Amino acid sequence: MTEYEHVRVAVIGSGFGGLGAAVRLRREGVTDFVVLERAGSVGGTWRDNSYPGCACDVPSHLYSFSFAPNPDWPRTFSGQEYIREYLEHVTDVFRLRSHLRFNTEVKRMTWDGERLRWEIETSSGTLTADVVVSAAGPLSDPKVPDVPGLDTFPGKVFHSARWDHDYALRGKRVAVIGTGASAIQIVPAIQPEVAKLTLFQRTPPWVLPRVDRAISGPERWLHRQLPFTAQARRGLLWGMRELQIQAFTKRPDELGLVEQLAKRNMARSVKDPVLRAKLTPAYRMGCKRILLSSEYYPALTRPNVDVVASGLSEVRGSTLVAADGSEAEVDAIVFGTGFHVTDLPIAEQVVGAEGRTLAEVWGSGGMKSLRGATATGFPNWMAIIGPNTGLGTSSMILMIESQLNYMADYVRQLDVLGGRAALDARSGAVEAWNHRVQERMKRTVWSTGGCTSWYLDANGVNTTIWPGTTSEFRAATRRVDLGEYDVLRAPVPETARERRTNNAQQSTQKNAQQNAQKNVEAGA
Ligand code: NAP
Repeated sequence: MTEYEHVRVAVIGSGFGGLGAAVRLRREGVTDFVVLERAGSVGGTWRDNSYPGCACDVPSHLYSFSFAPNPDWPRTFSGQEYIREYLEHVTDVFRLRSHLRFNTEVKRMTWDGERLRWEIETSSGTLTADVVVSAAGPLSDPKVPDVPGLDTFPGKVFHSARWDHDYALRGKRVAVIGTGASAIQIVPAIQPEVAKLTLFQRTPPWVLPRVDRAISGPERWLHRQLPFTAQARRGLLWGMRELQIQAFTKRPDELGLVEQLAKRNMARSVKDPVLRAKLTPAYRMGCKRILLSSEYYPALTRPNVDVVASGLSEVRGSTLVAADGSEAEVDAIVFGTGFHVTDLPIAEQVVGAEGRTLAEVWGSGGMKSLRGATATGFPNWMAIIGPNTGLGTSSMILMIESQLNYMADYVRQLDVLGGRAALDARSGAVEAWNHRVQERMKRTVWSTGGCTSWYLDANGVNTTIWPGTTSEFRAATRRVDLGEYDVLRAPVPETARERRTNNAQQSTQKNAQQNAQKNVEAGA
């Protein structure tokens, strides 16, 4: 039997999820772990998305880790470069560098039921791990629609998440495809420099103004000197969104009132009634993600912008043809067409206990997990931002931190069980959890709002969004309920070496947990 390098935990990805997992593991006293990253630096989606205008539409003080507050956020909403810098900073401050394996793409993970471990083949070799934490993220693999004739296009083509900064758009005729969160940031950023911008809009989004401003020197000083002021600011931002979520999940009609604000916002910038009609959505606000921008509508009124209110359906050489037959001649195409969210590519690389991939097990029935983390037949494998953990509003970092609580307790439970053990989610528990989620989903705006969105899978089932508040999710993921799992024991006894390693790991962890407890008791 080939012996590979073995670690206690292998984390996949080094975005918010992967770095958060690494910090949390260290805090739990687990130091025997690696973070496998296919790129050459940390940052995940905030590394890959560098398109002009890229920024976060969740306020900075909420879109950051609770355990790593940044009193120096320069603006209320951060640009991509600041968030990326923040993640580099977190990597250094929490001493994560030694755990990172860059340029290491996971090709396949296979469960070894004899030895209760995962065999992980990567682009730079194979290793084994007791536990896999997949933080590969839902926004990692770009989706480009299969448009007939695209291969005949003689100009430049790229996706918003793969921006080619060496290609100058200045003076070019550019088509932007899509009107999601990415496209509405790209359009105002490139409009002033391109000769002509044609926007292919299949479905208009609801857009509210983004009240972005510089955070003043005195405010930052206050946050540095009195950290509780930054906490209070975060708390306020969180509380407001927590209340808003209730409208999405329980009272979608209330969102009708906000539609009036959005229409007024549009009317202030867009005087042309024909353009206004094109831009007005015909579904309940919130059904698709509400977008925040104060620059998008003004940009659409500029003379060099043309809005085609129809999706791109064909390419004939340098001519783009929309579904309604309108045509535009362009030099470059920018696809702002999103990511593979409901068909997570990482699921194709995980081979479980029965020799089938997670993608095959989910198959035509769609993604299902226990508490957004684990799946039957895939013992000791968990996802960060798994099925139904997304948010329609508020900060994903809150959801990630809840999943990290779950991960930490999972590893703790394995330690308590001792020896070689693994946890496999019981199918009854998975079914019960999904039944609860889907029952709650019925009255949400994502089900009743009259739109199709990337939240829904091919069957029209919402497998991406959590239909509740972030506090409800936190409560549901605080602890691992062993009643929801089968405990697996290795048929092959531990070797003397494995026993020594396991005992050493458990004692290091116990010491670290005791120290952490002492710190808490001492008020540190
Ligand atoms: P997205 O939300 O999936 O939007 C894709 C867009 O492409 C939609 O408007 C879609 O139209 C359109 N589309 C697809 N095929 C088309 C075609 N053939 N012709 C014309 N339009 C077509 O993708 P995204 O904007 O990249 O956003 C992806 C995720 O990143 C979202 O979760 C978003 O919230 C997140 N994001 C967040 C921020 C932030 O500030 N926090 C910023 C950027 C992105 P339909 O609506 O008709 O399907």
